[in-house]
Amino acid sequence: MPSCIFCKIISDEAPADILYRDERVTAFRDIHPIASTHILIVPNKHIVSVNEVTPEDETLLGYLFTIAKEIAKQENVAESGYKLIVNTGPDAGQVVFHLHMHLIGGRRIRTR
Ligand code: 5GP
Ligand code: ZN
Repeated sequence: MPSCIFCKIISDEAPADILYRDERVTAFRDIHPIASTHILIVPNKHIVSVNEVTPEDETLLGYLFTIAKEIAKQENVAESGYKLIVNTGPDAGQVVFHLHMHLIGGRRIRTR
């Protein structure tokens, strides 16, 4: 998706502080962190939101949790705790319409 900022980050057309990347998933720091650890874990496939998920995506989306667990360890929040959030649609505050998981941990977790 040429106009999608996350597709551009995934393909290196836009800069980001990338922590992890493989053929299925890219993880990078949120540009406006709301806690000391705030990372976005993004499938490389452009899926608009949870509303567009299909059964074929099940393995890929499960894999986001595997990567989340590894990144939580690397960021030293695995034991202290963290939230995994997937906003869907306007009322949830989704602003980037490429499905992504927020990993939020450390001090000042203000989200529910
Ligand atoms: P949403 O509200 O859609 O779940 O979250 C989108 C998140 O992406 C926001 O927390 C926002 O700060 C982050 N974001 C938006 N544009 C960029 C960008 O260009 N680079 C990075 N690293 N994060 C972004
Ligand atoms: Zn995209």
